Amino acid sequence: MKPAPFAYHRARDVDGALRLLADLGDDAKVVAGGQSLVAMMNYRLARPRHLVDIARLRELDRMERDSTGALRIGALTTHHTVERDPRGVLGRDFAVLSRAMEWVGHLPIRTRGTVGGSLAHADATAEWCLLAVVLRAQFVVRGLRGERTIPASDFFHGYYTSDLAPDELLVEVVFPRPAPHAALTEFAERRGDFALVAAAVDLDLDVVDGTVRGGRVGLGGVAAAVVRVPEAEEVLAAGGSFADCAAAAAAAVDPPEDTAYRKSLVRTLVQRACEEAITA
Ligand code: FAD
Repeated sequence: MKPAPFAYHRARDVDGALRLLADLGDDAKVVAGGQSLVAMMNYRLARPRHLVDIARLRELDRMERDSTGALRIGALTTHHTVERDPRGVLGRDFAVLSRAMEWVGHLPIRTRGTVGGSLAHADATAEWCLLAVVLRAQFVVRGLRGERTIPASDFFHGYYTSDLAPDELLVEVVFPRPAPHAALTEFAERRGDFALVAAAVDLDLDVVDGTVRGGRVGLGGVAAAVVRVPEAEEVLAAGGSFADCAAAAAAAVDPPEDTAYRKSLVRTLVQRACEEAITA
């Protein structure tokens, strides 16, 4: 399949991209790594009349720790850059991000696909979306009207929809809190495929005796968007076992497809994620 005809515009900087988006209106789409959008265009599931290419905006390709210790990742950072962490920015605090990248497609996809593209695409099984909700990330979004910061808990609205307006750019995602005891695991039919179900856990451990004091549990592939599971988090906060936490997660969700199968995957994967997180 070939895409429907479109006009191509290459942005020179963020302000230029925002002006193009404002001028071209709802007929325009941003393209970053193109690993999701171009496939959708080829299948004619998306028919933008204008593409605004932001791939050369080097200002959005960065990964750094700020003075508060927060991790700030520019929207154009590729999955593979996070996986390699060439400057050792992630450290133990955010090593979960690097480890999780092995689940994202295949190497050629990870070398082109971007963190911002994945988050903006808002797939309900995407690893970045799941990591963002579980690690309580903040999204920095810019438009001609100014900049706003959106907590991950408010960003994902449903199937491939987010809080982003068509004339806004996601410029950065911020992970404000270290997550040394976090893990993501999943099940896919073949290596490199999108997950059927993915689970991520970020545990809070007692600094003195190393026992679990609580944590966040999230799932992909069980609803229209990635979700946190408060019922499972309550079990962790009450000192329950990982098996009880996993059972609570499975009981709490109601996947619209393959319901019983996905619930059993949830049970297995949440327990596995907890066990990986505590030994991380
Ligand atoms: P693009 O395809 O360029 O854009 C995607 C969407 O985001 C478009 O709507 C675009 O307008 C918008 N967008 C992009 N950047 C911005 C921005 N900065 N601000 C606002 N809007 C923006 N992903 C996974 O998570 N897990 C997988 O297992 C996985 N497997 C894959 C397997 C295959 C075979 C393929 C082809 C892709 C797979 N992907 C997977 C998708 C991949 O991770 C993509 O890189 C990602 O979803 C989109 O990133 P991109 O930079 O390519 O975005």
